[in-house]
Amino acid sequence: MGSILDGKLVARALRADVRRRVDARREPHGTPGLAAVLVGDDPASRVYVNNKEKACAEVGIRSVGRRLPTETTTEALLDVVGELNEAADVHGILVQLPLPAHVDAEAVVQKIVPSKDVDGLTMVNQGRLLAGSPGLRPCTPLGIMHLLAETGAVLAGLEAVVLGRSQLVGKPVAMLLLEQHATVTLCHSRTRDLASTVRGADIVVAAVGRPELVRGEWIKDGAIVIDVGINRTAEGKLIGDVHFDEAARRASWITPVPGGVGPMTVAMLLANTVSAAEMAS
Ligand code: NAD
Repeated sequence: MGSILDGKLVARALRADVRRRVDARREPHGTPGLAAVLVGDDPASRVYVNNKEKACAEVGIRSVGRRLPTETTTEALLDVVGELNEAADVHGILVQLPLPAHVDAEAVVQKIVPSKDVDGLTMVNQGRLLAGSPGLRPCTPLGIMHLLAETGAVLAGLEAVVLGRSQLVGKPVAMLLLEQHATVTLCHSRTRDLASTVRGADIVVAAVGRPELVRGEWIKDGAIVIDVGINRTAEGKLIGDVHFDEAARRASWITPVPGGVGPMTVAMLLANTVSAAEMAS
């Protein structure tokens, strides 16, 4: 039976470290600030933003919530982001996705000045990641790398298989794994034989959004399994992209859902905000 990689526990230690960094800055430089832009009344987005703001408060980061009505235009949103780009007391900006369908989400995200892009989604920060130069990295992939570090595994030379090639998770985590000298295979919906590819993996990162797609018999004995997926069952239960009970029998380490990658994402957002503030002064 594999050991549980407890994201809640690791995130707690990370948040304590962020709190120390925030405290150390306050006197000379002021309190770091994070602006969360939320458009419309999508309940899930509202919960995510509320959680992020609560997490900010716990570590002493000031949050500047911007709640805007669903009918907000792209132009109006670009103006809001423009103002936040200029605000000296705002060090990080996050635009909660998805935005309403009539909004040009890409234009809004790309408007964020790269030095405040705490989600690491601007072209500049994506390019920096690809180039291996310093920059703000997307939070979920950073959280995944942090969890992998907790296992003590040396990633150099290991076979890492990433399922999902999204801009937010799959692609950037593949780059970060490569940076640590893993041999990376990036799979997606057109990959022919997912099961046999995963069978060769020392590290599996599943970021697909398909409940329990990855079965126990796909997992190599001793593999580390990171389940990014968040899927809600008909009964309202949250489950991952990996069949946890089956995979846990073979894995050396495995993340639960919930309580694995999720808490790490929020902790990394806080860490990125302090990093952005530190880089600004
Ligand atoms: P996405 O929908 O943008 O991308 C999904 C990817 O999975 C695509 O690249 C697609 O090609 C691939 N895919 C789809 N079906 C597949 C299949 N049958 N076999 C192989 N690949 C397949 O999703 P995303 O934003 O990367 O999120 C993925 C999952 O992770 C979702 O469940 C999401 O809720 C979750 N998520 C969790 C966190 C967290 O903090 N825990 C953060 C971001 C996303």
